[in-house]
Amino acid sequence: MNPPAAEMPPAAPATGAAPATGAAPATGAAPATGAAAQPDHAQPDHAQPDLMDKIVNLAKRRGFIFPSGEIYGGFRSTYDYGPLGVLMLRNVKEAWWRSMVQYRDDVVGIDAAILSSPRIWEASGHLANFTDPLVDCRQCHERWRADKIDGRCPTCGSTDLTDARAFNLMFKTHAGPVEEDATVAYLRPETAQGMFVNFANVLQTTRRKPPFGIAQVGKSFRNEITPQNFVFRTREFEQMEMEFFVPPADGDRWFAYWCEERMAWYRDLGIPEDKLRLRHHEAEELSHYSKATADVEFRFPWGFDELEGIANRTDYDLKAHAAASGERLEYFDQATGERYVPYVIEPAAGATRTMMAFLLAAYDEDEVGGEKRAVLRLDHRLSPYQVAVLPLSKKKELEGVAREVLAMIQPIAMCDYDVTQSIGRRYRRQDEVGTPYCVTVDFESLEDRAVTVRERDTTEQVRLAIPDLVGFLREHLKR
Ligand code: ATP
Repeated sequence: MNPPAAEMPPAAPATGAAPATGAAPATGAAPATGAAAQPDHAQPDHAQPDLMDKIVNLAKRRGFIFPSGEIYGGFRSTYDYGPLGVLMLRNVKEAWWRSMVQYRDDVVGIDAAILSSPRIWEASGHLANFTDPLVDCRQCHERWRADKIDGRCPTCGSTDLTDARAFNLMFKTHAGPVEEDATVAYLRPETAQGMFVNFANVLQTTRRKPPFGIAQVGKSFRNEITPQNFVFRTREFEQMEMEFFVPPADGDRWFAYWCEERMAWYRDLGIPEDKLRLRHHEAEELSHYSKATADVEFRFPWGFDELEGIANRTDYDLKAHAAASGERLEYFDQATGERYVPYVIEPAAGATRTMMAFLLAAYDEDEVGGEKRAVLRLDHRLSPYQVAVLPLSKKKELEGVAREVLAMIQPIAMCDYDVTQSIGRRYRRQDEVGTPYCVTVDFESLEDRAVTVRERDTTEQVRLAIPDLVGFLREHLKR
């Protein structure tokens, strides 16, 4: 996950190479977003047939994800992230930020506004073309995204469907107290445009030169026709996107580099090899702006589906915004006198969708001491809690030491502190939410100033002197 040692990207590896015949970007109208390649649902994950139900149930029961507005019957497939969900989602985003920004010297971050000039969406093509093909079932009047249903209404099975019409996915609102055309604004449907419209600002303020990137994590909104599969497709979601600006001649090689790099990120955080693949789009599947696109796909219970799209967007976006705004969005190399509009390589991932994939991949059941247990084998960087501090009993004398231990660990790890129920039950509860280490304070701890550290996956226990605990955890919980 390190950047290339030299300025130039590494040679394209054979597996990640951009298709040699990638079509040049057309400058005409954008095709509907629904024209994207179909994922391969022919390979559903049969290993655990009821896995989705288990994850949805666990997410609700343990405070990861709640249906939004549940006391009012919920709200159209929107979700709230609970006490554990907010921790895990932050960890997903932070793991991405560390690898994309912190551990690199060629990527900087921004945080652009969700509401901004509607001219952005006019120039980017979203106003005219960010559409999905909508069909109505004439029998039961349900509405569907035509490219997701194979010509048959999933509710009633009828093939009596209307012709598809383009449905724009952007949420429209009004900025200010007057509801008229002049005040129309849109909730951003992607974070990417924030990077393009700030290209000149970032270039000037950071004195970067291509190759360099701008990264952003934040909410996006799409009025999806059929939100589905829990948090896989929702109308409000979070994205983690990076625009990497390169000299046009280096585009293909940087595209290959980012495909490799992004696959490595998922593997490193524990997605097993057989549940992950990179699927290159065929030339006819490519978006109008793209010279090459590949999807990182995860094997969901219903088959392989997209986690992230990686695209060589060429100079389409910068040129479109330059033309619409009248600003120069290009790079001028003072040393060589060269002036050019960089190409952009964009790895665009979904944080909420990826969190769901990590949950699905981590869920396991085994037996401990003759008892069945559910365990989330999450990488410690993703677990909501890294450590649980568990005094063996509620007795006052244990609480003093337990709270002392808790205060020692809190600066280096997110901790839970739990005194309820038997120690066995508490271990199971921590296993089920993926806590890698439980630290138990018992009566002996009062005498020997030592605690028991239990590891989640092996359930092995070691006795450690309290002064050695922080060092042990630092070593095992490296980020
Ligand atoms: P899809 O084909 O699934 O609609 P897309 O190709 O339009 O997705 P992109 O525009 O490339 O998606 O967005 C980048 C990433 O953002 C996706 O790979 C996905 O992880 C995430 N994402 C997009 N739409 C949604 C959504 N409605 N809900 C949750 N995550 C989403």
